[in-house]
Amino acid sequence: MTSSTGTPETSSLPLSDTEAHIELNEAYAAHNYHPLRVVLSAGEGAWVTDVEGRRYLDCLAGYSALNFGHAHPRLVARAQEQLGRLTLTSRAFYDDQLGPFARDLARLTGKEMVLPMNSGAEAVETAIKLARKWGYLVKGVAENQATIVAMEGNFHGRTTTIVSFSTDPTATAHYAPYTPGFRVVPYGDLAALEAAIDETTVAVLLEPIQGEAGVIIPPDGYLQQVRTLCNSVDVLMMADEIQSGLARTGRTFACDHEDVVPDVYVLGKALGGGLYPVSAITADSDVLEVITPGSHGSTFGGNPLAAAIGREVIAILHTGEFQERAETLGDRLAAGLGSLVGQGVDAVRARGLWAGVDVSPELSTGRHVCEQLLDHGILAKDAHGQTVRLAPPLVASEDDIDLLVTAFQTICAG
Ligand SMILES: *Cc1c(COP(=O)(O)O)cnc(C)c1O
Repeated sequence: MTSSTGTPETSSLPLSDTEAHIELNEAYAAHNYHPLRVVLSAGEGAWVTDVEGRRYLDCLAGYSALNFGHAHPRLVARAQEQLGRLTLTSRAFYDDQLGPFARDLARLTGKEMVLPMNSGAEAVETAIKLARKWGYLVKGVAENQATIVAMEGNFHGRTTTIVSFSTDPTATAHYAPYTPGFRVVPYGDLAALEAAIDETTVAVLLEPIQGEAGVIIPPDGYLQQVRTLCNSVDVLMMADEIQSGLARTGRTFACDHEDVVPDVYVLGKALGGGLYPVSAITADSDVLEVITPGSHGSTFGGNPLAAAIGREVIAILHTGEFQERAETLGDRLAAGLGSLVGQGVDAVRARGLWAGVDVSPELSTGRHVCEQLLDHGILAKDAHGQTVRLAPPLVASEDDIDLLVTAFQTICAG
């Protein structure tokens, strides 16, 4: 850096590549995130490389969007092939990619139909609109009266309607007025859910495991009980599997752990293989066919590139390899972290290769542990205050998992 006289500023040292990029980010990109101080420029499998050439094990995996790792060769090849052929038609015309993708996704979820969107929040919005319309046209709820029950601690995205039923003050403050029509009950409390449902209720919207809340797993049998309750009162059960779905928990869907089939699956994140935003809802036609031409849509939703990538993701899931890896690697991670409970860690919640680690307040905060993990070459993100959420790509090796556990042990040993 030089001053206006052309002489070097004596006070400022040359910036490292890392510092220069962080400065640019902070100057021009809105401060709606608080990133760790690392600038990434490449990724392969479970590992990423920063602008200084340092390598890190990625234990956030794009909030589970990167379940199959960075630059999965099969996904990259399919995307590249489709990129040069056809990427967007708009839904004003048919294309040769959406049909096969919709069929395969419907079959994967055991549903009859699919409505494709782009971001997770858009898919949640789609589910909300679907439930309301189904409520008025099929269930016979009085116009304007529909209610949807959601859960305390939920995370379903960032739109004005979705934050209207968030219980996180950081997500909601100063965004009022909020969209009406939602009731919020404690997660895992069946009696509270039952009490919140009345003749206006069209849907129960829940995450089968709450990711952003810190990998919160509901009591055993809860999802089954919600399923039974929804059946008995003619209410749609809508499972937001955007983060929990597509092999992360050791099964294709987190609902599979309780053999529960929701009326509506809400999917995103890993559906785009970490390459591209791809989201969708799936449901049977008696529900989804209340959506008619012109009443809902998206310019990019279900475009040929998205459909091609999404279909390849489904083909990868059909091998079962990643569900199995999530289970075996997850057992290894849970065993390693479990040994730290009482030694700097208060609790570990894990399902598949997905763990929430509650750091003892006496030891540290979740954020500080993530900063220490960064020094050990591991990328992770705190969820809430004391919790570190771990979700390595499912392509990680056993050695990668051991590395993560060893780093945690070292940090906990202080
Ligand atoms: C990430 C997430 C969303 C929102 O997805 P976006 O693509 O960020 O809009 C919704 N629900 C859950 C459970 C999520 O984890």
